[in-house]
Amino acid sequence: MEALKQKILSDGRVLPGNILKVDSFLNHQMDPVLIAGIGRQFANLFADQSISKIMTVEASGIAPAILTGLALGVPVLFAKKTASANMDEETYAATVHSYTRGKDYTVRVSRRYLHAEDRILIIDDFLANGQAVLGLCDLISQAGATLAGAGIVIEKQFQDGGRILRQKGIRVEALAIIKEMSNGQITFA
Ligand code: 5GP
Repeated sequence: MEALKQKILSDGRVLPGNILKVDSFLNHQMDPVLIAGIGRQFANLFADQSISKIMTVEASGIAPAILTGLALGVPVLFAKKTASANMDEETYAATVHSYTRGKDYTVRVSRRYLHAEDRILIIDDFLANGQAVLGLCDLISQAGATLAGAGIVIEKQFQDGGRILRQKGIRVEALAIIKEMSNGQITFA
């Protein structure tokens, strides 16, 4: 997606540890026009997949997920990272290792909102080592639902996530694929 790649080149900042900071338009301050375009792009890519629900992980997956849900006309379910008193006791839960924070956390969704008849499209902002998507896959399989694929805004191809997920037969569509980020220089695949 050309507009996204241009935005990454103009506004993205490469931090130590192969982290790309895109908090001027995606992760902190958000560009609704760009993210609406991202949502339409994912909706087009998965238009024939009879998606019944979008899933993502809070917080930074929510914006692209909700605009994809808007374009497809389906609900968006985000997995929560903290257990809250007002969350249903009946939850599906999975452990995820966070690449950016270097620690494990638990993702949870209420059983009330994820069913065996659902066809799920996962949306996330980044794909690094694939742990966030695998955690969501775990929740989906616990519910007996079907995974139709994963839409990723930015895939870092030099990390293992894309290969791991595709080897498992998961359809992964990324709108910007970064081949390398050496010396602060971003190169797309
Ligand atoms: P994975 O689970 O694939 O290892 O990492 C994906 C998750 O980690 C994403 O949900 C995202 O929040 C975070 N992440 C991974 N790499 C980056 C990065 O380079 N920049 C930012 N901002 N987040 C990242």
